[in-house]
Amino acid sequence: MKIAFVASEAFPYAKSGGLADVAGTLPKVLESLGCEVKLFLPKYNLIDAQKHLLQFIHNLIIPVHVAGETHSVYLYQSKLPGSNVEVNFVDCPHYFSRGKIYTNDYDEDERFILFNKAVVELLQRFNWPPDIIHCNDWQAGLIPLYLNDNYNWDKLFQKTATVYTIHNIGYQGQFSDDTFNKSEINKEIINNAAPGLPGHFSFMKNGILFSDIINTVSQTYALEILTPEYGAGMEKILNERRVDLFGIVNGIDYSEWNPLTDENIPFHYTAKKIAGKEKTKKYLLESFNLNYDKDTPVIGIISRLVGQKGFDILAQSIHNLMQLNAHWVILGSGEDRFEDLFRSLTYSYPHKAASYLGYNNYLSHLIEAGSDMFLMPSRYEPCGLNQLYSLRYGTVPIVRKTGGLADTVTDWHDLLSFGNDSGNGFSFSDYSAQTLLTTVQRAVETFNDKKTWKKIQRNGMLKNYSWEHSAKEYLDLYRRAIEKRK
Ligand code: ADP
Repeated sequence: MKIAFVASEAFPYAKSGGLADVAGTLPKVLESLGCEVKLFLPKYNLIDAQKHLLQFIHNLIIPVHVAGETHSVYLYQSKLPGSNVEVNFVDCPHYFSRGKIYTNDYDEDERFILFNKAVVELLQRFNWPPDIIHCNDWQAGLIPLYLNDNYNWDKLFQKTATVYTIHNIGYQGQFSDDTFNKSEINKEIINNAAPGLPGHFSFMKNGILFSDIINTVSQTYALEILTPEYGAGMEKILNERRVDLFGIVNGIDYSEWNPLTDENIPFHYTAKKIAGKEKTKKYLLESFNLNYDKDTPVIGIISRLVGQKGFDILAQSIHNLMQLNAHWVILGSGEDRFEDLFRSLTYSYPHKAASYLGYNNYLSHLIEAGSDMFLMPSRYEPCGLNQLYSLRYGTVPIVRKTGGLADTVTDWHDLLSFGNDSGNGFSFSDYSAQTLLTTVQRAVETFNDKKTWKKIQRNGMLKNYSWEHSAKEYLDLYRRAIEKRK
């Protein structure tokens, strides 16, 4: 099967969140299952071209029309590390030399219109008809419609089916009506497809309306986004396409996230030989100027600091949380209100809490390995990756039961009440500061019972969260999309 995988970020080139982990791994696994995969990314100037061995393709310049202007698009190529997956970097310095992946600039819509069109035009130049174009998030949301309308003259795409993955419905790429002109998308088509929807231009709405199959990154989130509470305004059109909507939970890249081989951690370990974890805990605490005590658990947080992640209820309960016998290590960047919260926490409780406010891949591995628990009190969470990394690293997750967190973390005490000792973490449903507090309290108390704790850790560590299983589900989805196209 030939697959064009289109995303706005992919590890190790450019990463702001979980999408990059998915786009940097799933293509490799699909290739190992026998597919031919080409990955398409924008060539942001923050990508280190030398380090990642990007090759400039000399004989290729494509004119791409956006917002009434014609831009020259160039191409760089590389191979996704550890694979033969060809990575195609769409180069247009006018739009992608901004020093960051996403911007609030007036032409943010134009940046990704160009990207979507350039991908289609590159496929034409390659004369490579994919069976599937897998479009991810709003930044790749226009391709299904372009194939159905603007480029439907091209026989190359006659058999090409599209799959659209929603990694987070909170980011829809909504712009004013002007974007119809800038993108040369026919407003009538949208109106006919979904009469009665408000007039603003939405990249994601296009993706949902015109792709052959839609999916999101966990089964629970696939159900949640059909409701007004979680659908962020898309629930109506999603309900109309309900039979084409699926949920596939993400996997982990074990070449990056494995406590036995992780190059970012000072001591390695496995579920059977776990001593290295305790040594890493000591190392982590010393790195953050906190005292090591084997009986005081370390609670880690690694996150984009945004409303979605539940930091408002954390803020409300913070002083009570600081009374618990625990150390806190926080890594994150994002909204000022949450950065201020964690900055002031370090000043108010210097012996209990430490934070690094910024993005740091090395620290994210060290904190995963050195913490005893990992907190994700998300308001909503499409899949969530850090709870999966935590399970793998013997770092017991404490999560709110929503989206992918509900699908992957099972509460120790809930299951135990049914005589089942396979729980792998702690979770709560009610989105409130009080429930968050009592759940963390429950985890901290359970930590004192070393035998039980070991069991919970092992339940998480011994389960397989690799991509193989999820990638096979994607293959089924692709087959379903191709079938629809026939
Ligand atoms: P989201 O995609 O909503 O940000 P996920 O849990 O799916 O949430 O993925 C987040 C990814 O980004 C994880 O790989 C996590 O380790 C990483 N990450 C988040 N914040 C930081 C940070 N400040 N420094 C390093 N890695 C981070």
